[in-house]
Amino acid sequence: MNILLAGSGGREHALAWKLAQSRLLADGAGTLYATPGNPGIAQHAELVALDLTDHEAVARFCDENRIGLVVIGPEAPLVDGLADSLRARLISVFGPSQAAAQLEGSKGFTKDLCERAGIPTAGYVRTRSLAEATDALDRFAAPYVLKADGLAAGKGVVIAETRAEAEEALADMFGGAFGDAGAEVVIEEFMTGEEASFFAITDGATIMPFGSAQDHKRVGEGDTGPNTGGMGAYSPAPVLTPVLEAEVIQRIIGPTVHAMTNEGTSYSGVLYAGLMLTVEGPKLIEYNARFGDPECQVLMMRYEGDLGELLLACADNRLAALPAPRFSPETALTVVMAADGYPGTPKKGGRIAGIDAAEATGAKVFHAGTVLGADGTLQSSGGRVLNVTALGDNVTQAQAAAYAAVDALDFADGFCRRDIGWREVAREQT
Ligand code: ATP
Repeated sequence: MNILLAGSGGREHALAWKLAQSRLLADGAGTLYATPGNPGIAQHAELVALDLTDHEAVARFCDENRIGLVVIGPEAPLVDGLADSLRARLISVFGPSQAAAQLEGSKGFTKDLCERAGIPTAGYVRTRSLAEATDALDRFAAPYVLKADGLAAGKGVVIAETRAEAEEALADMFGGAFGDAGAEVVIEEFMTGEEASFFAITDGATIMPFGSAQDHKRVGEGDTGPNTGGMGAYSPAPVLTPVLEAEVIQRIIGPTVHAMTNEGTSYSGVLYAGLMLTVEGPKLIEYNARFGDPECQVLMMRYEGDLGELLLACADNRLAALPAPRFSPETALTVVMAADGYPGTPKKGGRIAGIDAAEATGAKVFHAGTVLGADGTLQSSGGRVLNVTALGDNVTQAQAAAYAAVDALDFADGFCRRDIGWREVAREQT
């Protein structure tokens, strides 16, 4: 069977690496295509240039190349309805419909669903004008949590320490700082606790737990400095104990999937729950309608099953027939190498060497923002450039293995945090 993978980041390199090992593609049984891909993905897939916003062109490519499964990596094409357009042509797609992707695409939609289904989350108010939002602040105490309703590339959330700061941020949001995504703003109660992520693959009927992770959003060591798309992650997250995981499935994931199905917007794909582990138990911070990046890299490093068969079974509503996913008991940890300047303006064109040496240590180096230069050398082309991923018996060992690989790389115009996993390493040492 031929498979088309959409996306170009480290997440998609990890998916391509695993998909390439699938029996669906073994011994010439099929070809893996990727669009637009990157030089790392090109090691496993044939790259094709398709405009993901041109659904007709993507569907035509699928028809002409007998694509039996499309795997959509990033959120934007999901929220834009690419899965619906392809399903209308009877193409199997891994990824939710436009209506179901609202779980990520509209924070207000998700909060309303949580309220209807009794899912634990922060109290909230949806507001549609600056005056309404300013009045609504009266119902909350500092720190104020303000969220642009729509997709804002991880930048649409402001935590304001004072009322004056909150009012200023609201004025920016309704003033168009996030474009259409800020036409509505959700104000939330502030929750305290440790954050963790939990993943489930579902076809709307069967729910398959797919592991946990913790990431590091801030650019600086000790979780300081501006937010990024993520500077590193590890899986599993020991803080999400089996008891807590069971609670998350029973009180958060299960009710969400069932409510979506009952309301006619059945969710199919990977459901990624951002959680706050509060003293009252796990509460939902947000949903994402795709794998996290870089969380996907650590999940794929540990996943031992056939990814192609799993994603196809999900797309075809056959998950009930599959055994539970198998994972290595080891810990995977990934360190993001970013280009100097990130998360501001990253320096492009930085030369990258030493990937073979890094992988000789046993690690896997996933490409994100890389490109082959005119002279055939590998260069940086974006903010987050490489994801150096390693396994170990615990977070401490996986961290040591990942940094040994990082040290074998030669990327003078890049940097990474040296403390990925610090919280868990500290716990493991006591
Ligand atoms: P992402 O890019 O991770 O998808 P996002 O922009 O969609 O993020 P959220 O995940 O909803 O936004 O929030 C971003 C961060 O803000 C959370 O990881 C958390 O640290 C903090 N946060 C969000 N909501 C709350 C809350 N109600 N109480 C405390 N902190 C919160």
